[in-house]
Order: sequence, then C-alpha cells, then structure tokens
Amino acid sequence: MDDIFAREEAHREKASADHEAARRRKACESKNRYASRAEAEENLAWCEHNGKRGLSVYRCPYCDGWHLTSHPWDE
Ligand SMILES: [Zn+2]
Repeated sequence: MDDIFAREEAHREKASADHEAARRRKACESKNRYASRAEAEENLAWCEHNGKRGLSVYRCPYCDGWHLTSHPWDE
C-alpha cells in the first residue's frame, strides 16, 4: 500500500519539476538577459522606438537578471 502512495508522490514531484523547468525556459532561458534594470529599460525604450509596444521589464527569480516580456500576466 505504502508503495502506491510513494509512487504517486514521486510522479507528482516529477510533474511539478517538469512544469517548473518549462516555466523557467519560458520566463528566463529563452529570453535575453540584462544585468540591470537600467539596461533592460534601455532595451525596452529601443524596442518601443522601433514600434514594439506593450513590453515591460521584470526581475527574474531564476537567474537574478532582468528580462523583457510582452505578456506580464503570463509570468
Ligand atoms: Zn532569467
């Protein structure tokens, strides 16, 4: 009996690790990284200058850097 619960628990942990990895890829590893907010904002200004609007800057909890996102509600 214990065995079934242990397996179920392991399965849940793996699913949650996969989910975490996917989030990380999407929110961090697939994006440009900036070392500071100022650098990220400079790039945001450049993007807006080039017609790409609606971006925002956010501090990344994974790499401790900064990224730009066009969908802050997704993160
Ligand atoms: Zn990051």
